[in-house]
Amino acid sequence: MLIGVPKEIKNHEYRVGLTPAAAQEYIQNGHSVLIESLAGDGIGFSDNDYIAAGATITASAADVFANADMIIKVKEPQPNECKMLREGQILYTYLHLAPDPQQTELLVASKATCIAYETVTDNNGALPLLAPMSEVAGRMAIQAGAHYLEKAQGGNGTLLGGVPGVAPGNVVIIGGGVVGTNAAKMALGLGADVTILDRSLPRLRELDDIFGGAVRTIYSTTEAIDSYSRTADLVVGAVLIPGAAAPKLLTTEHIKNMKKGSVLVDVAIDQGGCFATSKATTHQEPVYVIDDVVHYCVANMPGGVARTSTLALNNATLPFGLQIANKGYKQALLDNEHLLNGLNVHQGKVTYKAVVDALGETL
Ligand code: NAD
Repeated sequence: MLIGVPKEIKNHEYRVGLTPAAAQEYIQNGHSVLIESLAGDGIGFSDNDYIAAGATITASAADVFANADMIIKVKEPQPNECKMLREGQILYTYLHLAPDPQQTELLVASKATCIAYETVTDNNGALPLLAPMSEVAGRMAIQAGAHYLEKAQGGNGTLLGGVPGVAPGNVVIIGGGVVGTNAAKMALGLGADVTILDRSLPRLRELDDIFGGAVRTIYSTTEAIDSYSRTADLVVGAVLIPGAAAPKLLTTEHIKNMKKGSVLVDVAIDQGGCFATSKATTHQEPVYVIDDVVHYCVANMPGGVARTSTLALNNATLPFGLQIANKGYKQALLDNEHLLNGLNVHQGKVTYKAVVDALGETL
């Protein structure tokens, strides 16, 4: 199979669908890889690295789309990319179709077979191709929060780890899933005082075991959120209700009661955000201040650490991608129900129920 990797074209998107190491894996499995020139250049993967891995470089994205049997990307295809897809071609990337009728219509019109990273499942009912980005965003949340707590950045001037003789900062994490657990690891590593709130008791038990009691685990109620947010230096929003918009757990009243110069990092912003005052921001302008509280609400946090994110994403996408390439998509999907769950659009039809439910009337 010929695997094609175009350069990502969304503004400030430096991730790339295949690392040179992953390209080499496809080649060792008997496939060919065609990479658009400079596709990985922004994160230190040069054309020569891909050539050394055995790939071929082309100057044009059109060439990649015209020739490849499977296109591997990171972000959802932009309209001009959708128009280059064709019947029988496989697209393997993040799609996030439910809120995006335009992309859905274009993919349906292309008649391509579109497999979305975000809906591939595993035996635990988790989303293994989404998890790496949640790990990245969770860890980054503390790095960003620590930075914006600095006085010159608008924060209250607290060092999360404190120093001998001075108490550490208070980090409150709402939602103890993949994002929340990774945030907690980083906050603990810095020496902060860490509290995780979750509404799942089994999850709180797991967290207590994972951290050996080093973090406070609290059942998530409005009263607990009110009480813990008042004394927090940094609050991380990390909740997810699958298939639904994030609930607004921190109200404007809670935020008014927070300490001056405290910081909110709303990782759940890609699901609408879990703080009442959250609105999506970008890496160019990550923060704004409301009621003396700094808000960081970057919708694509992993894009900020594009090199680590690309490596982490490739670790997760490669095994499934190889199944598609080695067996052909039909056999690969028939053999693996988890990969089949990734199928969102096929031969001019939407094949993923949640997308049909979300867009039914507009399709
Ligand atoms: P997850 O499913 O692993 O964890 C979510 C947790 O939230 C679960 O433990 C659940 O019990 C808990 N929860 C649900 N309702 C709650 C409530 N009322 N109070 C407290 N906890 C509650 O999900 P995840 O992978 O950790 O993702 C968390 C969020 O981060 C999602 O919205 C995801 O889309 C988002 N995310 C954003 C970025 C970004 O760049 N901004 C990147 C990755 C993930």
